[in-house]
Amino acid sequence: MSEAENKSKQALLGMSAKDISSLLPSCPSYVGAQIYGFLMDGKGFDEMTSLKKELRSTLAKDFIANPVEIVRTYRGKSGTKKYLFKLPDGNLIEGVYMPHDYGNTLCLSTQVGCRMGCTFCASGLDGLVRNLTAGEMLGQVIAVNRDEGGSVKQRKVAKLVLMGSGEPFDNYDNVLKFLDAVSDEKGINIGERNISLSTSGLCDKIVQFADSGHKVTLSISLHAPFDELRTALMPVNKAYGIDKIVAASKYYFQKTGRRVIFEYTLISGQNDSDECAKRLARLTSGFPSHVNLIRLNEVKENGYIAPTVDATEQFLHKLEALGVSATIRRSLGGDIDGACGQLRRRYIEEANV
Ligand code: SAH
Ligand code: SF4
Repeated sequence: MSEAENKSKQALLGMSAKDISSLLPSCPSYVGAQIYGFLMDGKGFDEMTSLKKELRSTLAKDFIANPVEIVRTYRGKSGTKKYLFKLPDGNLIEGVYMPHDYGNTLCLSTQVGCRMGCTFCASGLDGLVRNLTAGEMLGQVIAVNRDEGGSVKQRKVAKLVLMGSGEPFDNYDNVLKFLDAVSDEKGINIGERNISLSTSGLCDKIVQFADSGHKVTLSISLHAPFDELRTALMPVNKAYGIDKIVAASKYYFQKTGRRVIFEYTLISGQNDSDECAKRLARLTSGFPSHVNLIRLNEVKENGYIAPTVDATEQFLHKLEALGVSATIRRSLGGDIDGACGQLRRRYIEEANV
């Protein structure tokens, strides 16, 4: 099927059973629920064999089942698997599947590209291409669950992190729709306590989200404890500085009872000094929070250097000595260009050679 043909078709995944029924006025209403169930299992129209053949061909003519197609997979260390996905308009996004004893986790994307322009990140290099729909976020979950041999009844994907390309709170409405769709008990049913969302710190949206009644684990990308340094790494800091981030984090905790996780990507010679450790400890004291240290995944375009594993551990020990609850995060597939937008770029570069 050509991209032009696909682009004009509506995707059914992401719709409720009722919405699907309303698209098929000549079918009895239970058919919508049947199709919804098939879609959640990751089935294409040709596999929905309990539906009448004419209905299957009508569906295939007018709609797409899952808007997310797996183009390539790459295996990394300790079972990590990186996915390159294609959307109906030909855009590419990424995901990383990480098997864990406490629940297999999928890292998924919320936008094609990103407009935040963090200087160490590959996703922001080309700016924002477009927002993903709720169905395109759900489609990543369903496609990987199926690819790993799972179904709705026997899920292989148990946990989600919204940490692929994109700034989730820059696509707020669709992300909330997605959270509702993915936690639907009749669907894949991944509950919010098994979902983490990472934001670069759009504080108005953090407050709005805290008020929305949703209760995911919130990670905030801090990366620097001084405004000047943070602005150099993350231009968004001009709009929402560190004071605002700390205030929004406290508000999130008050409203949801969930402690906030601060992500801190260590970049050699930038944010790994003793002063940074001390200031970070001061900022995060006095309310429940946790610091996740990430070793930089080097991106060749920006020249930043990752600290050694030893230096990363030393920074951790400094924080611990200062009373900070902190851990070093296992890489999201760094050995397979796993960080944020790197795989997509490599694939596009290879295709252009
Ligand atoms: N836009 C959101 C979520 C996606 S990025 C955010 O920024 O929080 C997920 C995490 O990966 C963020 O903490 C981000 O800062 C971090 N990250 C981005 N590029 C990285 C790199 N090259 N090395 C290490 N971490 C990186
Ligand atoms: Fe966007 Fe997050 Fe990358 Fe910053 S780190 S450019 S917010 S995806």
